[in-house]
Amino acid sequence: RAKTLGKGQYQIFDSEMHNAAIQVLQLENDLRRAVNQQEFIIHYQPIIALTTGKIVGFEALVRWNHPRQGLISPTLFIPIAEETGLINPIGNWVLREACYQLQQWHHQKLTDYLLTMSVNLSVRQFAQPDLIEQIDKILAETQLNPQSLKLEITESVIMKNSQPVKVILQQLQERQIQLCIDDFGTGYSSLSYLHNFPIDNIKIDRSFISSLNGNSDNLGLISAIMNIAQALNMSVTAEGIETAQQLEQLRVLKCDFGQGYLFSKPLDGKNATNLIESATQW
Ligand code: C2E
Ligand code: MG
Ligand code: MG
Ligand code: MG
Repeated sequence: RAKTLGKGQYQIFDSEMHNAAIQVLQLENDLRRAVNQQEFIIHYQPIIALTTGKIVGFEALVRWNHPRQGLISPTLFIPIAEETGLINPIGNWVLREACYQLQQWHHQKLTDYLLTMSVNLSVRQFAQPDLIEQIDKILAETQLNPQSLKLEITESVIMKNSQPVKVILQQLQERQIQLCIDDFGTGYSSLSYLHNFPIDNIKIDRSFISSLNGNSDNLGLISAIMNIAQALNMSVTAEGIETAQQLEQLRVLKCDFGQGYLFSKPLDGKNATNLIESATQW
């Protein structure tokens, strides 16, 4: 098949690859500068207890406020940050900033119960020998109750290098920091395997929720995941709830928590504060 392509087409292909490579390099350079200049902001997406319809916490989601390109999605720059190791300073900043925000909400006594803050941790962050030290330092600095911090990791973190990871997870558990498995169902782990680790909550990936309708196979699948999670003493969060019908079905299944555009998109600090103050209930 390649033979039928003319010489010119190879050149176009080459120059496209070249441009793509230059763009990545450019982004990498920009990202390095962004870390120094602190060009990041956090948006907060509420997590709702499905039985009460009340906000019980938020997930911190980082954005890059690029001086020329505007807000850049984490799906675009987190992979580059992972590759270059820049994820470590970025992740450390996110953790500190999110903890400060939560502590501020606690001080303002905006709700009658304590909100939680969920922060994503990537594979590379888990490989840092001083991860626990960093977390301890931030908790001490922000005076945050460790129980109100939730760390989200993906199945890949656990599947990789599981022994050292287990030690770290145990250290987090000792501090009563909560652990969540993010995007559950997209990796290759099983719930019975996860049972070997101190996991408090699993977040069912959005792809399972998005196809939830009255006669979907995913209904049975989600129900099965929930039964096992319950037996293993883990709570369940549904990610990416977009429709009232999905919410209704998840309530019937007695899913504990939910998150998604139906409730709210991720909001900047000010709008998230307004949302808490409005005491909205779903
Ligand atoms: P995630 O941790 O699974 O976060 C959920 C993503 O789904 C967020 O995308 C959120 O905006 C989006 N989302 C929430 N509800 C809905 C919905 O109803 N419909 C749809 N279509 N999407 C929904 P976002 O903010 O673009 O983040 C993407 C990913 O980037 C995150 O996925 C996480 O893996 C990563 N990420 C974000 N912030 C951080 C961070 O501070 N550190 C690390 N290591 N990764 C981060
Ligand atoms: Mg997450
Ligand atoms: Mg997720
Ligand atoms: Mg994800």
